[in-house]
Formats: sequence, structure tokens, C-alpha cells
Amino acid sequence: MTLHGWCFTVHCAGIQMPQPIRSNDQSAPPKERRNWKLRSYFSIALRRGPVRYWTGGVVIVAAVAAILVWHFVPAVVRGDATVAYSEAAQALAARQVSSLTVTDDGNRLVLSLRTPRVVAGHEIRTVETVVPEKAVTLADLERWSAAGTIVRVVEPHTGSIERLIQFVSVLLLLSLLAAYALHHRGGLGANRFAPSPASRHLTLADVGGAREAQADLRDVIAYLKSPERFIAMGAHCPNGVLLVGPPGTGKTLLARAVAGEAGCPVIVAAGSDFNEMYVGIGSRRVRQLAKQARDAAPCIVFIDEFDSLGGRRGRPNRSGEEEVTLNQLLVEMDGMASSNGVVWMAATNRDDMLDPAVRRPGRFDRVVEVPLPTAADRLEILRIHAARSRLAPDVNLERLARLTVGHSGAELANLLNEAAIIAVQDTGNLITDAHVEQARDRILLGRVRSGMVLSDQERRLIALHESGHAVVGMVACPEDRLHKITIEPRGHSLGAAHFSPESDRHLHPRRYLEGIIAKALGGRAAELVFLGPDAVTTGAGSDLVQATGIARRMVAEFGMSEQIGLVSADPSAQGGAPSGQLQGEIDNAIRSLMAAQGARAESIVRQHRDAIEALAAALVEREVLSADEAYALAELHGVDTGRAPAVL
Ligand code: ATP
Repeated sequence: MTLHGWCFTVHCAGIQMPQPIRSNDQSAPPKERRNWKLRSYFSIALRRGPVRYWTGGVVIVAAVAAILVWHFVPAVVRGDATVAYSEAAQALAARQVSSLTVTDDGNRLVLSLRTPRVVAGHEIRTVETVVPEKAVTLADLERWSAAGTIVRVVEPHTGSIERLIQFVSVLLLLSLLAAYALHHRGGLGANRFAPSPASRHLTLADVGGAREAQADLRDVIAYLKSPERFIAMGAHCPNGVLLVGPPGTGKTLLARAVAGEAGCPVIVAAGSDFNEMYVGIGSRRVRQLAKQARDAAPCIVFIDEFDSLGGRRGRPNRSGEEEVTLNQLLVEMDGMASSNGVVWMAATNRDDMLDPAVRRPGRFDRVVEVPLPTAADRLEILRIHAARSRLAPDVNLERLARLTVGHSGAELANLLNEAAIIAVQDTGNLITDAHVEQARDRILLGRVRSGMVLSDQERRLIALHESGHAVVGMVACPEDRLHKITIEPRGHSLGAAHFSPESDRHLHPRRYLEGIIAKALGGRAAELVFLGPDAVTTGAGSDLVQATGIARRMVAEFGMSEQIGLVSADPSAQGGAPSGQLQGEIDNAIRSLMAAQGARAESIVRQHRDAIEALAAALVEREVLSADEAYALAELHGVDTGRAPAVL
């Protein structure tokens, strides 16, 4: 726990800070000063609770243990001086030794002399000598005993220092383990939900697009700003707002912006904060969160990734502990309806997974959709992030917004950030259009693997494969426009024909989906036509994954297969896998759909053999072809791309 967090809790609870330790009050007598120190320590410990003073406890236990070990571990037997073995042997033979200690596994002899010697002004009573391993035998011991020397054998020696170090290390290790366990039980996380201070820095102006969501949230802002107006009118604000949308669409940003607009603190938690294997920890954390919220009111409590906390009860893989935690949250939210000033907000990508009880009026009763941004939204988001970057005049944000269909706000922010990083490495002082283009390629396709060496044969094969995708895509799926073709090895791929939709689409006709499958199978079709069935390569693996995924959804979710008919077999929506028989039929339907589109792709490749040859040759020569170059070459070789004929 940080000092800051602790101070805040105390302040919120209206409790006075503990008196500072007055041990440095020099006017007091020393004994009094010591007493103050102790009293302050224990009074703070009592207020903070025992768990928070675990470190003090561990230190005290370690110190006591160390003293005990120091006291009880036998001292090492040492002589006052070290002498040669011959000298020691002489002393033994001359019966000048009163007692002999054999130690260190018989490797060291310590002799107590009957008459002390004086060497360099020092009186020597014991001497020691080292003997070779196993040199001292039982017969020697008996001989020395018979000569009147008391012989003692000491067990293998471990010095007290070494023992102490061993003991303290074990103790420290145990303390660390105990601290770790305590921390993960939540004992040390009493302040894990500290409210971040009210900040006016982040406002709705920082959120691009999401107009409907912003409109929905203005009520909440108005309420948090002046709840008394609502109370006077007999109205009450939504108790909870559930933000639903794909990842990276700005849900967290919206929650923070609402708090910023309302000028109130926000407590941020994640659904996974409440998932613990220890019994009772999840519900305890919910209580903790609710308490922090009550103390900080008016405030916003924001729970990210809410599905892992508010998931449907009774689901097969849900533990009893998770259900108890959710029940506790429901209880706390009900209890809070009467206490003014706490607005619960939660974000999820999977609202279908939520328990119905979570969404009943009085709990998360307002659902705000935060969809992927439209072209206009993307432009707004790009402008917001571009305002913080140094863009060159050649960067056309309108074009970029059009080219980034399907990108979330987070992806757009990442794109500009990546372009800025490339610009920095380029030692330029402005982000140019080329930097943005490179950033797009790096995000979509991965970093160029410049160290990868491909043979001429492999480069031609990849060029044919990518040209196959390109030409089949131009013919079978003209709705998407080719952006570029490349045979540069990047990330996991050896090449790519990159298509992107020209505008936002909200519904996808069957013809379009079939076209995408054909486009994905165009690479394999080109290999088949140009190289023959025995020479096809592993390059189509990821294409098959993509195509099969679309085919499966068409058949099992969208009712686009005559063989299967109008039925949904989506396991997550239907609460389980379909029957074995239906599953078998679905698999057959997927196979026929894939086979039909594979045959279609092959026939397009055969029909436009010349165009594919020409594109492949250009790719082998230049590695990258822009959209304009590729369309022009294809049109020149008779491909109807749906564009006005180009002049080369
Ligand atoms: P997840 O569902 O994965 O938690 P999220 O919807 O909560 O994601 P945020 O964390 O809010 O997404 O967004 C991440 C980042 O993306 C933001 O910090 C911001 O930089 C950028 N971003 C996302 N959406 C927007 C937007 N609408 N306007 C401006 N920036 C945005």
C-alpha cells in the first residue's frame, strides 16, 4: 500500500491522521521519547489493522530467530595459532598436550597445550594443524589416549555464521512466500481501488465519433454535476451504464471523459480483479470497491472487461466462488441506489454472456452501444490523435479514414503512433504519408524480414500465388479494392495481396462472402494451374483457415446453405454444440461450399492466365505493386475490374 493511498482513505473517512512520531522532540527526556515511539507505532498498527503491519511482524520474528540461532549454535573449535604438523606431532609424542580435538572430518587437529607458550609476546594455549584427508586413524586416537591426552572428535563442522546465514535465508524465503500469499489473497490490496483524482483534462472532446454514446452519457454528466436538480424533479439517474462494443472502440476513454466532464473522481477496476481462487476474496473486493465508491461520492465506478465478473450464473464452467462474487455486486448495487452520487459504469465486448440480473432496472439499466467507428468517426479520431503529432502536409487524413474500414479507435491511434516511431527512426522531423503507409504495412503484414533469403524459384512461386489472389479477388469480389501486392517477406507471411473495403458495410450479401472465399482460394488455384497438383505448397494454409471460417459461419449461422436450411448452430448463441447429425451435415455443406468456390477460383485463374503471369513477372522484378499498377496490368490483359480502362 502506498502512503498516498493510505492517507487518502484516512482523509475520506474523516479520521485524523495519526500523530507524527515525536521522538525527535528534543525537549522531552530520552525515556519519554522512546515511549512515544512505541506508542505511536502500536497506535498506528491498531488503526491500520494487523495485516498492514505484517512486514514489522516478519522483521521482529526474523530478528528473534537470528538471536536464538546465534546463541545456541556451538562455536567453532579453533586454535590460537596454526603450526606445522611435525610440530604438533612432536608435542603429542612429548606428552605436552592435555586434550586433542579432531574436527572437520579428521582434517584438522586442535591441541590444548599443558604449558602455554609465549610467541611474539602473546600467550598461546591451543594450536591447530591441518592433516591430509583420512590421515588420522582410530589407532592414532587410541595411541594418543593411551599417552594421557583427552581425545575428542567433533562432528563435521558447520560454522555458526554459515548456519545463521542458512537459517536467515530460509526465514526470508518463507516470509516472502507468506507475503506473496497474503498479497494474492487480497489482504494487502485494501486500497487497490483508489479513486483517481477528479481530472478535467480528459473530456468528451477527446473522444472521436461515438455520437450516440456521447448523447446517452450526457444525462449521467448532468446528474453527477448537480444531482440536486434531478432529486428536486423526482428523477433519478441511471444507476448503472453498460458500454457494449468491440475492443478498442473507446469505452474506457468514454468513462474517463464522463468523469472529466463531471469533475468527479473515477474508480477503475477490471472484472478479473474479482476472480480469485481463495474463497471469499472476490466478494470482499466487491465490498471494498463499494466502500471506496461511497467514500469518494460523487464518483464513477468503472469496471472494464465486465463479462468476467457479470457472466451468466449457472454456466457449466463458472465456479461457485464467481457466483458469490456476482451476488455480492448485485447486493452492493441495490444498496447503493439510495446513496447519492455513485454511478456504476461497465464495459464489455460480450454482452451476450452477461447474467440477466445484471441488466435489470436499478442495476445496469442503461446500455450504450459503442460500435466500430464510421468513416466520419474515423476522420474525427484521426484528427484528435493527429493534433498531438507533427504531420507533414502530404498526409491525407480523409483518404486514411476511407482506407481504414473496420479499424477501431485504438487501432487508428496505434497507426499514427507507429508512423511517428518510424518518422523518428527516419530522423525526419515530420510524419509523412510514406511513414503512415509503412506503419500500415507493418501493422497489417508485420515487419519486413530483411534477413530472409529466398531462391528465384520461391520468389516466382510466391509471386504467382499472390497474383492469383489478386486477380481472383478483382473478378470475384469487386466490392473490395486491391490496395497493394507484395512479395516482401513480412511477419509470418512471405507475401500478400492486400484488399480493403472502399466504404463501411453493415450487411454482407451471400455473393460477397462467396467472393471472399474464392479470393482466399485464388492463391492455391494459381499454384494448381501453373505448377500442377503435385507442386502445390503449404502457402495456402492460412488462406484455408480464413475461407473455412467464413464458410462455417455462412452455413451454421447465416442460413446461407440450402443443404442446412434456416437454422443457427452457433454453439455460443445456442448454449452448446449442435447434434452429431446436424454437425455432420454442416461439415458436408462447408466442404461443398469450399469446393464450389475453389473450382470458381481455378476457372478464373485459367481464364486470366496472362494477367497472372504478367503480375507475377512484375512482382518478381519490383517486389511491391501499388493498386494502380496492379489494376492497370490486369486490365491490359483483359481482366474486367469494373474500373475505367487505364492507360499505361
Ligand atoms: P477494450 O474493450 O479492449 O477494453 P476500449 O473500448 O475500452 O477497449 P479504450 O481503452 O477506451 O478502448 O481505447 C484505447 C485507446 O484507443 C484510447 O486510449 C485512445 O487513445 C484510443 N481510442 C479508442 N477509441 C477512441 C475514440 N473514439 N476517440 C479517440 N481515441 C480513441
